[in-house]
Amino acid sequence: MNEMYDVIVVGSGISGLLSALALSKEGKKVLVLERNDYVGGVCRSYNVEGYQVDTGPHIITRTDHGPLRQLMDDYFDVVPNFIPHGEYYVRLNGRIKPFPWNLKGWFNFDLIPQIDRIYLIKTLFSVSYVFNSGEDLSRRSLGELVGNNLSPPTMRFLNCLSYFMTGTSMDETPVARFLDSEHYKNQSNNLLDKLYNILMKEGAIDQVYPKGGLRSLVNATLSSLPKDQVEIKTGEAVTKISGDTVKNVETEKGDYTSDTVIYSGFASDLPLVVDDLPTEYTNSLKKLYKLDTLTIWLGLDKKLFNRKGSEIWVDSDPYSWVVPISNYDPLLAPKGKQLVSFAFRLHKNSNLNKEKENALNSIYSIMPKIEDHVEMKHYQVLVPEKAAWTIDTVFADIRTPVKGLYLVGTDTERRSMGITRASYSVLHLLSVLRKEGVI
Ligand SMILES: Cc1cc2nc3c(=O)[nH]c(=O)nc-3n(C[C@H](O)[C@H](O)[C@H](O)COP(=O)(O)OP(=O)(O)OC[C@H]3O[C@@H](n4cnc5c(N)ncnc54)[C@H](O)[C@@H]3O)c2cc1C
Repeated sequence: MNEMYDVIVVGSGISGLLSALALSKEGKKVLVLERNDYVGGVCRSYNVEGYQVDTGPHIITRTDHGPLRQLMDDYFDVVPNFIPHGEYYVRLNGRIKPFPWNLKGWFNFDLIPQIDRIYLIKTLFSVSYVFNSGEDLSRRSLGELVGNNLSPPTMRFLNCLSYFMTGTSMDETPVARFLDSEHYKNQSNNLLDKLYNILMKEGAIDQVYPKGGLRSLVNATLSSLPKDQVEIKTGEAVTKISGDTVKNVETEKGDYTSDTVIYSGFASDLPLVVDDLPTEYTNSLKKLYKLDTLTIWLGLDKKLFNRKGSEIWVDSDPYSWVVPISNYDPLLAPKGKQLVSFAFRLHKNSNLNKEKENALNSIYSIMPKIEDHVEMKHYQVLVPEKAAWTIDTVFADIRTPVKGLYLVGTDTERRSMGITRASYSVLHLLSVLRKEGVI
C-alpha cells in the first residue's frame, strides 16, 4: 500500500519549505520530496575552505512589511536575526557614490552628466503620468523609452540597472518592471505624499541579510515545522505524478499518494513528470524564460571592502553586484579575513570557462589589489528566478489543468524578486487552496 499524505510538496527550495510549513500549521500531514541530497534549493549555505558561502549573494527585501514577514508572523516559531543591508553604492567611471533613491540624491549623482539627469527626471514624470492613466507598460522597453539621447556612461548605468533588476538589457526590460516595485506602488494618491516619496524617501530601507547566512532562514523554517506533521525525504527525484482524484507520486525509491500535490520545481519541467497535459498549456510553459548567473566568491586574507552595503559595478565588463557578506556577519569568514561575492549574468550558450575567466579578470581590473589577497575562490552557476521579467514574459499559474495539482515558486509570481517573490507565490497558493476548500 502506498503511503498516504494530505499534501505532497515536490521540491524543498524556499517555496517548497514555506508551503510545507504553512500547510502543516494549517493541520495537514505533509510529505516533501527533494531530488538533491540537501534542502534549500538556491536558498542555501555551505562551507568552502573555512568560509561559509550562500547560493549567490542574497539581500532579502521587505522583511518588515512584505510577504515573508506575513509568513513569519503567521507560521514561524523562531525567526532569523536580520541585519540591515545599508547603502547600494554605484561604481562608475572609477568613482563611487550611493545609489540615488530620490530626487535630491539624483541631483547630486554626478557620476552621470547633469543634462542626462534632467532628461531622465522629465521621462520619469511623463512615464508616471502614462502609468497612472492605466496604459499597459509591460510591452514597452526601457530602451525604447529613453531612446538614444543619453551619453555612454548614462546608457551603461541604465543598462546595468536593467541587468540588476531583471537579468537582461534595457531593450529587453519592460518599463513596467520598474514601476512594479513596491516603492512605487505604495505611493499614495495624495499629491503631497507623492511628492514627498519622490523627493525625500530612502529606497533601500527594508532590506536585510540574515545573520548566520541563508541557512538561518532555512533552519528557522525547518525548526518551525510541527513535530510529526512533516516528513522530508531528500535524494528522491519525483519521476511521475499521475491519477485523477487521488494522485500517485513516484520516485525511484517509492510511491506516495495524496489528493493534493504542490510542485515547486521549474514549471517548464512539469511535462517531464505529468503525462497528457493539454498541448496549449505545455506550449505556454515553454515560453517561461529563465536566466543563469555566475557567482564568484572570494575569500580575502584581509578586509578590503569597508563600506556598509553592497556595490553595483557599472565599470566592470560584465556588470557585477558585489556584496562583502562577512561585513554583515564576520563569523562567515575566518578571523580577520573577508568573504566577498560577485554576481554576474551569464550569456546563453556561452563558453562557461571563458565567462569565468572574463568575470574574474574584470574584478581584478577594477580593484587590482584584490588579486594579491585571494586565498579562496569558489564559482557557482545558478538560476536566481525561474522566470525572468522581460518583454513578452509569460508566468505560470498556481492552478494547473490537473485538479489537485498546483505550482508554487518564482515562475508563478511577477511581484518583487527572489525570496520575496517566492513568498508572494506561497501566499497566493494558500489563498487558492483556501478558495478551493483544501485548507
Ligand atoms: C546568484 C543569485 C542571487 C540571488 N540573490 C537574491 C537576493 O539578493 N535576494 C533574494 O530575495 N533572492 C535572491 N536570489 C533568488 C532566490 O534564492 C530564489 O528566487 C529562491 O530561492 C527560489 O526558490 P524556489 O523554491 O522557488 O526555487 P528553488 O530554490 O529552485 O527550489 C526548487 C527545488 O525543487 C527541487 N526539484 C525540482 N524538480 C524536482 C523533482 N522532479 N523532484 C524532486 N525535487 C525537485 C530542486 O532540486 C530544488 O531544490 C538569488 C539567487 C541566485 C542564484
